[in-house]
Amino acid sequence: MPVAPAVEYKSRPHMRVMARAGRIVADALEAAATATVVGATTSDVDAAARQVIEAAGATSNFLGYHGFPAVSCVSINDEVVHGIPGPREIEEGDIVSIDCGAVVDGWHADSAVSLIAGHARGEQDAHLVDQTKAALWAGIVALASANRLDDVAGAIEDVADAARLHTLDGYVGHGIGTSMHQPPDVPNYRTRARQAKVKPGMCVAIEPMFVVGTGKSTVRDDGWTVVSADGSRAAHWEHSIAIHTEGIWVLTARDGGAAELARYGIAPVAP
Ligand code: MG
Ligand code: MG
Repeated sequence: MPVAPAVEYKSRPHMRVMARAGRIVADALEAAATATVVGATTSDVDAAARQVIEAAGATSNFLGYHGFPAVSCVSINDEVVHGIPGPREIEEGDIVSIDCGAVVDGWHADSAVSLIAGHARGEQDAHLVDQTKAALWAGIVALASANRLDDVAGAIEDVADAARLHTLDGYVGHGIGTSMHQPPDVPNYRTRARQAKVKPGMCVAIEPMFVVGTGKSTVRDDGWTVVSADGSRAAHWEHSIAIHTEGIWVLTARDGGAAELARYGIAPVAP
């Protein structure tokens, strides 16, 4: 039997540092989203995020990651994740997915949003963005009472099925802490393998990636940009979440997720 890789368990003081990193990421994403206007370049979006991270005295975990040249990934339409910011101009109705992270005192946070620049090109695009966000929160709700991470995966897959969308094959969420990506995997769909048990001290990034078409993808010649194989559109939402003995806290939401979780009767508890 394969031995599950070790999970890094965090103390609540560690989680509080991660929450500081998380709030900076929330601010960076808000600035990046504000910069996501028709005619702006994806470099402009990245610059907005970079300014916030630098002003906060944090560092970027994206910049230099396996040589990645920016503080955020900006992915448009059929680009699902890992788009490299550059001179591409954002057009009316583009689905823009922005993924960003920050490090404070060695502790990481990671979060992503998708939004539509200007007016949506059709109802399907708004549905895709909304349902991917809904899947993220369904996953977070599941995490609050999960026995294993399979419960999170199932909750995300159920939203995709009900919305007649597909999760991207082979791309998963992850543990986070003293590194951006660490065990355990947090799949976006049910798997044959049993996933990790949810325990206090875990911090995970849940990140559903939904596509309108099939779940198949390819990577562009730039070595980074993941695009849907059939050219259909995609969306990506992500939060980093802490699990401790008293409850959960969404590290990359300024309110710990309180506003979104209220409708499910869940009150997040600060670590
Ligand atoms: Mg991310
Ligand atoms: Mg991530």
